[in-house]
Amino acid sequence: MKYISEYRDRQVIDRLAGQIASFRDTKAVFMEVCGTHTMSIHRFDIPSLLPAGLRLLSGPGCPVCVTPVGYMDHAIALARQGKHIIATFGDLVRVPGSTSTLEKARAEGADVRTVYSITEALELARTHPGRKVIFLAIGFETTAPATAAGVLQAQKEQLRNFCILSAHKVMPPALEMLASEGVKIDGYLCPGHVSVITGEEIYRFIPRKYGVGCVIAGFEPADILLAILLLLKQVTDGKPRVENAYKRAVRKEGNPKAREMMESVFRPVDTEWRGLGMVKKSGLVLREEFASMDAAGQIRVMVEPPVEPQGCICGQILKGIAAPSDCPLFGKMCHPGNPVGACMVSSEGTCQNAFKFQSDG
Ligand code: SF4
Repeated sequence: MKYISEYRDRQVIDRLAGQIASFRDTKAVFMEVCGTHTMSIHRFDIPSLLPAGLRLLSGPGCPVCVTPVGYMDHAIALARQGKHIIATFGDLVRVPGSTSTLEKARAEGADVRTVYSITEALELARTHPGRKVIFLAIGFETTAPATAAGVLQAQKEQLRNFCILSAHKVMPPALEMLASEGVKIDGYLCPGHVSVITGEEIYRFIPRKYGVGCVIAGFEPADILLAILLLLKQVTDGKPRVENAYKRAVRKEGNPKAREMMESVFRPVDTEWRGLGMVKKSGLVLREEFASMDAAGQIRVMVEPPVEPQGCICGQILKGIAAPSDCPLFGKMCHPGNPVGACMVSSEGTCQNAFKFQSDG
């Protein structure tokens, strides 16, 4: 606890906030592309410590939020076939598809089970040899290596009733799309846990090609303030670059072993992100040698073309061009007890955080 408290120390925070306040004449917009950052920024009310000219925007960093409606429809259709066990992280159960959710499918009799890791999904496959267990694999470079390890384990054990429905995504193509087509951003707070795997290298093209700085940040208040301070210095110096403000967890080279494992199991494909649309080479699907574990290729199911939730502007929020308060449904028809869009479902979602901490505060 002492370790954590160091990064929540009032004196450290006040000192950093004081240094940031000295940039009161600087106008800048910084974007965090990580759901855990979004959560910390709201939870610790970081904006209240920043000068008026500095704006923080949330980007497409919450894995549940960027998972498109079509994927949910596919998962729900598989669940409704009735024969399979769907193993999923808890947040995904309430994400609306076009007409239903996994939660509703479960209430109608589908076997949808919440798991905390792929290890639990593998155990379900071992203990239910007569049924197909489909693991809903979502997330970025942070979780894809764990899925890869699970797939390799299933192969080793010859677990023929185990498969995955992959919506895994990688960050660099989405960052490239944001930098080239999105709102004007003066700096990115880069995701700490993605960077534990990728290292610093994946961000280098952003300052080089787009002249925008990147700082890898941890999740405690002092971590986030330090990253903001470093970005402000980059803006005023006119020297955008990649800096690592989370050295206690992120090595320059990341985790090459985890990346190797990921690359041995997955290949990149164009994929859809909620909000961003189709992003080239940003999705991960199983390589040919693991095709027997690919639920999308192995199990035939009818999925209607997806329909976005009416009135939901999640897509615009994920691109940073709208705020939750711009949505007419925010806090009225849409709240954590009745989420209309994915950004209200996840604890990392921008809408849920805006609702929760606005209400609390
Ligand atoms: S408040 Fe609800 S409906 Fe509006 S954008 Fe957020 S998730 Fe979508």
